[in-house]
Amino acid sequence: MNADDFPAAASRLCTACGMCCDGTMFQIVKLQPGDSAAELGRLGLKIRSRGGAFHMEQPCAALKELRCTVYDKRPTRCRLFHCQQLRLLETNETTETAAMSLILKARAQVAQVRHLIEQNGLREDGQALQDRFERVMSTPVDATLEPELAEAQEALDQAMRQLRLVINREFRPPPLSK
Ligand code: SF4
Ligand code: SF4
Repeated sequence: MNADDFPAAASRLCTACGMCCDGTMFQIVKLQPGDSAAELGRLGLKIRSRGGAFHMEQPCAALKELRCTVYDKRPTRCRLFHCQQLRLLETNETTETAAMSLILKARAQVAQVRHLIEQNGLREDGQALQDRFERVMSTPVDATLEPELAEAQEALDQAMRQLRLVINREFRPPPLSK
């Protein structure tokens, strides 16, 4: 891919994906020196502090229909973050078509995990996927007394494992995370 074509291709991929903003890949994004917690909070981002450091919670409140609505003012880590697919695209080690295909497959897996979480009794609550998964899995189920519930938990566990494999192999860039 010509370097001039990369930004538009990346934009097409990201607006079909959103997984590094919607709570699929990350639970929080740490703010960096130069990021204004107050200003980002005023923009509606869910800013929290822990041990004197600020972070924003995901799913990000600025993500609307897979687009960042605070793009020009987004935090440093969002500016610097390129997932593995974008990196490979930039170095011509993959194509936009191949990357898009992986994104669509991964998003179908995310939809399946979300569906299974709901089947396990936890409605959409605006929390990151990993937090919701852990909440379901922390509920003890007796397979003898409640075989259907045990089966539903097992199906979720399997689906989440498969999703994690794909995210770690195809999207999470070593070593810096968002
Ligand atoms: S995971 Fe990659 S393709 Fe998806 S939105 Fe983030 S940077 Fe874009
Ligand atoms: S501020 Fe924008 S780029 Fe950063 S997580 Fe939110 S939607 Fe994504």
